[in-house]
Amino acid sequence: MEKPAAPKDPTALTRRQMLGLTTSVLAAAGAAAAALGVGVPSARAIPHPGAKHVPLENFVHDLEAGEGWVGAGGSAKESTVAELPIARSIAGVSMRLQPGGLRELHWHAIAAEWAYIIKGNVRTTVIAPNGQAEQDDFGPGDVWYFPKGHGHALQGLGPGEAHFILGFDDGNFSEFGTFSITDWLARTPRHVLERNLRLPAAAFAAFPKSESYIVQGQVPPAAPAALRNPQIETAQVAHKYRLDAAPATEFEGGDLRVVSQKEFPISTTLTGARMNLKPGSLREMHWHPNADEWQFYLSGQARVTIFGAHGRVLTHEVGPGQVAFIPQGFGHFVEQIGPETTQVLILFNSPAYEEISLSSWLGANPAAMLADNLGVSEETVRALPSRYRGIIGS
Ligand code: MN
Ligand code: MN
Repeated sequence: MEKPAAPKDPTALTRRQMLGLTTSVLAAAGAAAAALGVGVPSARAIPHPGAKHVPLENFVHDLEAGEGWVGAGGSAKESTVAELPIARSIAGVSMRLQPGGLRELHWHAIAAEWAYIIKGNVRTTVIAPNGQAEQDDFGPGDVWYFPKGHGHALQGLGPGEAHFILGFDDGNFSEFGTFSITDWLARTPRHVLERNLRLPAAAFAAFPKSESYIVQGQVPPAAPAALRNPQIETAQVAHKYRLDAAPATEFEGGDLRVVSQKEFPISTTLTGARMNLKPGSLREMHWHPNADEWQFYLSGQARVTIFGAHGRVLTHEVGPGQVAFIPQGFGHFVEQIGPETTQVLILFNSPAYEEISLSSWLGANPAAMLADNLGVSEETVRALPSRYRGIIGS
């Protein structure tokens, strides 16, 4: 039924005929070479002579399946390059805090911290190098961003356990290798502590002897308590963004909320997103020119496929608690599976959101050119989408 358009110059060869000719010449050469015992590259290898393409790396990690760190005040499980080597640019942590659970005062030397609250409530404090400080409360659907190196602490507010996903803009980042106040104080000579903290040497006997990480403390009061320095300046740039309260872009098959630096100015290294895929939907074929994509599946099931050029594709089914990582520029799509809506939390390692979808791209070319490229009639090309589709319905 499909017929390649005839070449205008009857003596000219179509690309298909050229390829056929090349293949038959190669086949003849191959036969000759085989007779001589010499290797000849296959026709498929022509565009990249001599190139070797390693198979695509695994791109899925079951974050919640790990044991992680467990204490009285909370717990933490992580996904770094140690667990998922392909994810060199983004690491993630699933953390839980009991009411009064305190993730102690700390900073991160190599990464900024982004978080999304799944359930419960968390209070944070953070200080910037300009001396400005902020104390905020976060509930389900809220996001925070602490720039690299800024000192911060987290408290579970209750009622019930708080559960949140932390994201870091460096795959080598380990939650268990952060700079904690108790670790530093425990390793500092008493004579320095006496001078620096204005306490008698005997007072330090009661201090922790090593890093505390998460401790069980008092449940904080409903209204945030005053900071110790009454003159401290409040941060001029908010650390909090209410992602689930922001308007979503609605599609036939679901919806998408994106929080980039445009919406959340302090988020200078990461863009976050929340995507809901209705049963039977398809997040259309697309890629991100400027960023890797780190996905955490909150609920429901999906089948993720990545395309890494050179004929390489890889598909993996994912479900709640699992991470999928899509390298920058790789083509990909997500097929929703199962009866319940699939909810996905997403991070990109760029302050700007960029995407090119296959549908948009097909609309950005002349029909005759696509007919030649795909070897189909213009009638077939007319049926192809020409605008962004986002999430396609069932
Ligand atoms: Mn932190
Ligand atoms: Mn994507």
